[in-house]
Amino acid sequence: MDFTESDDIRQLRDTLRRFVDKEMPRDLVAKWDKENRFPREVFEKLAGLGVLGLTVPEEYGGLGRNIIGTMVVIEELARRSLAVALPYINAACYAGMNIVECGTQQQKEEILPRVVDGSMIFAYGWTEPDVGSDLASMRTRAERRGDTIVVNGAKRFCSGAGVSDYIYALVRTGPEEERYRNLTLLLIPPTQAGVTIEPINGLGLKGFPTTDVTFEDVELPLSSIVGGVEKWNGAWPMVLGSGLDVEKLEVAAMAIGIGQAALDDAWTYAGERQQFGKAIGNYQSVQHKLAEMKTRLHAARLMLYHAASLADRHLPCTGETSMAKLFATEAGKAISLECQTIFGAYGYVKDFDVERYVRDSLALPIIGGSSAIQRNNIYKWMKRQ
Ligand SMILES: Cc1cc2nc3c(=O)[nH]c(=O)nc-3n(C[C@H](O)[C@H](O)[C@H](O)COP(=O)(O)OP(=O)(O)OC[C@H]3O[C@@H](n4cnc5c(N)ncnc54)[C@H](O)[C@@H]3O)c2cc1C
Repeated sequence: MDFTESDDIRQLRDTLRRFVDKEMPRDLVAKWDKENRFPREVFEKLAGLGVLGLTVPEEYGGLGRNIIGTMVVIEELARRSLAVALPYINAACYAGMNIVECGTQQQKEEILPRVVDGSMIFAYGWTEPDVGSDLASMRTRAERRGDTIVVNGAKRFCSGAGVSDYIYALVRTGPEEERYRNLTLLLIPPTQAGVTIEPINGLGLKGFPTTDVTFEDVELPLSSIVGGVEKWNGAWPMVLGSGLDVEKLEVAAMAIGIGQAALDDAWTYAGERQQFGKAIGNYQSVQHKLAEMKTRLHAARLMLYHAASLADRHLPCTGETSMAKLFATEAGKAISLECQTIFGAYGYVKDFDVERYVRDSLALPIIGGSSAIQRNNIYKWMKRQ
């Protein structure tokens, strides 16, 4: 058992911290949030570090699978802004890792080098107006007419669809009653005729705008099927594959990044803000809040990196990833809200970043499988032990 970070991981963290300080200064990040604008130019610079290749084998230009490294990148980006962390996740994990595991040779050759060089942006379209946690009840339909696939339906909360090259979409391709069997993953270009995109105005997660996407007789070639024609109706095992475990960890890493940012800011503020003739950090009630938050973050980080080390080695980790997701996202939310109380009224105004941390952290126990769904998973996993 060794809980120390390796030299490689420490160097990666330092590189990311330097990148964030230089390319993602606080005033710019606040502007992306206010304007809900995707900072593509910063994303492209991030690709220059090579970190989009942490899920991609070397033969396609990547650095080889490194899930711990991927989590470090997400955590450090999220510590400043989700506007770069979210597209990183969609490219490196949804596209990169899933195409490595499930894509055809042609898809690997066409997509993976462009994931690594940052020139391809991805959205993932799973949620629908009537489909949230219960993914197997997908209603967007695709049918094959000769060599053409025709898609009809709607996706909801499809983040980044308006700025992406592909929507990685889960669709129904047979009778609904069969639930898990008749599902297929498609790569759908948002620019294709018949695709309409409408913005959704959410509370947080700005900078990679979330959208409603409608498909009306959208025609695609058979090469759009992730994994090729033999994977038509065969998406469910891919959905349940290691991608789902890593997805939980991506959200946990964002929660830890935001929690750390909130704690850092609260620590500084507690040292500066004077009331009753001394800094508020001198009051034991404030000190206890800081100590409690530090402890929760430490525990969340240990859970994240333990689960990531299992996922890295393709070891079973469904229980560990669910526990990490549940604990870290609830901790991230609680920490952001607690830090807001240390800022008093100033935590409630947009001039202070803690206001954004609260908005962003509230989404994390919902996305990537809600806390209730993680508790269900953990209970089922316990019964199997
Ligand atoms: C800002 C934002 C961005 C998002 N981006 C994307 C994206 O890019 N792509 C995408 O596909 N989706 C995205 N989502 C959607 C997100 O993944 C879903 O919100 C999530 O899967 C939950 O679905 P739902 O909101 O429909 O909730 P529902 O599934 O309707 O659940 C509602 C409530 O019921 C509870 N519940 C449901 N089933 C059970 C059960 N079996 N046991 C106990 N409790 C249960 C849930 O915990 C929740 O509290 C995004 C959401 C947000 C808010």
